Order: sequence, then structure tokens, then C-alpha cells
Amino acid sequence: MGKIELTYAWSESRVRCLRECAWKYYLTYFCAWEGWLTSAPQEKRRAYTLKQMTNLPMWVGSIVHNIIEDVITTGRQTGKWKTLEQAQHDGVQALRKGWKQSTDKRWQGSPKKNINLAEHFYQEEVDKDRLGSFKQKVLVSLKAFYEMPLFKVLQSLKKDDWLTLEDFQKFQLNTGEEVAVKIDCGFRYNGKVYLLDWKTGRVSDSVIDQLTTYSMYAMKQGWAKKPEDIIIIPIYLAAYAELGERATPHLDVTIQHMKRQAGIIRSEYPLLTKAFENKDNPSYFVKTDNEHACTRCFFRDMCPGAKTEVQEGETPF
Ligand code: SF4
Repeated sequence: MGKIELTYAWSESRVRCLRECAWKYYLTYFCAWEGWLTSAPQEKRRAYTLKQMTNLPMWVGSIVHNIIEDVITTGRQTGKWKTLEQAQHDGVQALRKGWKQSTDKRWQGSPKKNINLAEHFYQEEVDKDRLGSFKQKVLVSLKAFYEMPLFKVLQSLKKDDWLTLEDFQKFQLNTGEEVAVKIDCGFRYNGKVYLLDWKTGRVSDSVIDQLTTYSMYAMKQGWAKKPEDIIIIPIYLAAYAELGERATPHLDVTIQHMKRQAGIIRSEYPLLTKAFENKDNPSYFVKTDNEHACTRCFFRDMCPGAKTEVQEGETPF
């Protein structure tokens, strides 16, 4: 395999990281780069290890994503769909294995392949009830996946109806900006393009901006000719038992949504370009003045924390 090039593309999470703390952005995207090499300097290897860290809410979300992806992949390939009980068993096993990887510090040998929980690394107290609620969230979310009408739709799809499943993709705006997307699940059904996004967190109204980017990608790919042919569904798995169909709102994306989102991407892109141009200049990246951001930052171990004074020039005051 050839050398992997360090590049950048717009994504909502990337811009959010840069805005939260530029120093954290530097550690995540530049300092950690090639930190997987045994010959890399210690600082890079440390940044790479801390970059792979997760925490209980994020980890539970990724377990649910992984199990659903596995259920769909197996179902598509073999025509046999795992039962809910099998999926829940897999979910609990993933919790047990990951927990052991984290407590046994197996990530020290292989940070990418083993779970390293911030709660263990930073020795935070997690009470038993909270741990029980995480297991419950995995079980309830998977149950919701099997019970919602969309599951039957997925089972009925033919090979050619499938468009994407958890793939990282990039596309370019017509003005040249690179955009990264990862669509959880995309398929054709009844003449429409469906794009699904599994969510294990709280119901939020702000997802339309994030999901509009998916429909821009769908149009670029030629999956749909007009926005009205695309249906985007954020699926709030953990809330399904309580909200029923309201936990799977069908969002209509309009051309106005797309224009607005393209405008946001164009206006934020220079921040990423400037950061990339300064990737070898650590002093360009200032620490946040938001001490609260540091309390949950995975890089606390190699960073003394926020600089609380706001410098002249950062605001008009
Ligand atoms: S600990 Fe605070 S200042 Fe340091 S990288 Fe994290 S968020 Fe930024």
C-alpha cells in the first residue's frame, strides 16, 4: 500500500472541533498524523493514542451503529436476517469485550483496535445505575430497529436498490470545496431515495443542516434528479419506544436548504484551508478559553488546559 496523504475536507464535526479548540484540532488532525508508526516521536504517538479514545455515550452509539451495519450486511449477503435476540447478544458481547479491552489497557499495544474509555483513563467514577442505563440503551435501540416499519422495508430491498451503507465518501461543490460525508444507510424505495441516519442521542431539530449535506451528495451521485425525490430520516432509536413514528421524522430537503448549506460550507472552508496551511506551525493553533471544553477533552493528558485570557484581535473589543 502506498503512503497515505494528509488531506482535509469539510465536515460538520471537523469544523466543530476547530471552533471548540484550535489546539485540539491540531492534536487530532496534524500532531496525531503518523502517530501509528513505531518510529514516530513520542508526542505524535501519544496524540494518536488519545485521538482513538472514546467515552461511554459515544461508544454505546458506535456499538449500535456497528451491530445494525452487521445485521444489514449479513441480511443482504445471505438473505438470512439475524433475529433481535442475536443482535442484542452481539451488542452485549461488544460491551463486555470493549470494557475488558479498556480495563486491561489493551489499547497500549494497539490503540486503533482496542477500546480506551476516557472514564477509565481519567479514572472517573461511573455508578452502577449509569452503566446499567448504557446496556439498556443498546438493547432498547436494537429492539427499536427491529420493530420499526423501516426494518421490513430494508428486508424487502433488492440488490440494486441499495445505494450506500456506512461508507465514507467525498464530493466537491461546484466551487471546488471538498466535502466529506458518511451516510449510515441509503437505498431506493417506491421511486424515492431514502437516506437514514441512526441516532442514539436526544431528538434534535438541528439535524436538518447535517443531513442536507447527504442529499447534496445524493444529487452529485445522480441518485436523484430533484431534491423532492430524496427523503432523509434521522432515526432516534432510543426514543422510539416512547415516540413511535415521531422518532423517525421524514425530512423534506429543498433546493433552498441545499443552497444555504453550500453557503455555510463555502464560508467555513477557509478556516480549514488556513489550518491545513499551518499544519507544521503549532503556534498558529491557540488553546480555547472555554475551560468547560477541557473537562471532557480526551487530550487532557498532554495538554495543561485552556488559556483563560481572550487575546486582543480575537473579538472586536
Ligand atoms: S484540554 Fe482544553 S485546551 Fe487542551 S486541547 Fe483539550 S480543549 Fe483544548
